[in-house]
Amino acid sequence: MLIHKISEVKEKVKEWRGDKNIKIGLVPTMGALHAGHASLIKKAVETCDKVVVSVFVNPIQFCPGEDYNEYPRTLDKDVELAESIGADLIFAPSPDEMYGKGQRLSNDTLAYVVPPFFYVNKLCGKSRVGHFDGVCTVVAKLFNITGADYAFFGQKDAQQLVIIKKFVNDLNFPIEIVSCPIVREESGLALSSRNKYLSDEGKKDALVLSKILFNIKACYEKGITDVSALKETAFSYLTDKHDMEYLEFVDKDDLEDKTKADNNTLVLIACRVEGVRLIDNILLA
Ligand code: AMP
Repeated sequence: MLIHKISEVKEKVKEWRGDKNIKIGLVPTMGALHAGHASLIKKAVETCDKVVVSVFVNPIQFCPGEDYNEYPRTLDKDVELAESIGADLIFAPSPDEMYGKGQRLSNDTLAYVVPPFFYVNKLCGKSRVGHFDGVCTVVAKLFNITGADYAFFGQKDAQQLVIIKKFVNDLNFPIEIVSCPIVREESGLALSSRNKYLSDEGKKDALVLSKILFNIKACYEKGITDVSALKETAFSYLTDKHDMEYLEFVDKDDLEDKTKADNNTLVLIACRVEGVRLIDNILLA
């Protein structure tokens, strides 16, 4: 038979597989699970028949000098939490299992999924060169390993989410990406495994990220749309405890820079507190 449309090929393949229509969900994580991860697992359990949670501190997404060795590893607790929410399988491979024993972890010797430069050469990708290549590569491997129909990612890592959607679309991966809202502490601080590095004092200083974002959204809602003016509002929050990396306004779908804010504008911030690199974002809708 002659088929011209990808969607029709997919339909056909599905039909050949039989009509056992089970949905498999994947929640990729680096472990040290918290309520943010839990919300993704919950959504996956609600959406799918079987849920796989991967726990893998992926060496190829860390840049030289970053915290690969120090990154918190709490596998026993992670398994307990994931299973209590209803995950069916926790996949926790070693780096050797994922990339081959003795394999040199570089794109000289390993095939990588390389996302488009335009999406990568900004925001976090500017300071974390090669980070998104490592993320896309491990995520693609996890998609292939699990054969999942759905994968769940947090809006917390907004640039990562846009880039994953882009490569899934461009490379026709047969998987649906589900984005889940940011889970915050009552204080407003976005949950992150890296918050564990902060002292109590540092956690207070870290509130500045969400405060800046909430205030920008409030100003936008009052009618201010000029991005330079909105950026200005951040300065009053910053002290010498804050080492700001970026505050950017981009389109939520293609990361194109904005000069006038609108309902599709995503505001992203990266700032170091006590040397810990923290990120957060908000949609101005
Ligand atoms: P990580 O373990 O940090 O690689 O994160 C694994 C997944 O959990 C990613 O899709 C993150 O975006 C998501 N995630 C991390 N923190 C949060 C949060 N505070 N709210 C929602 N999702 C989150």
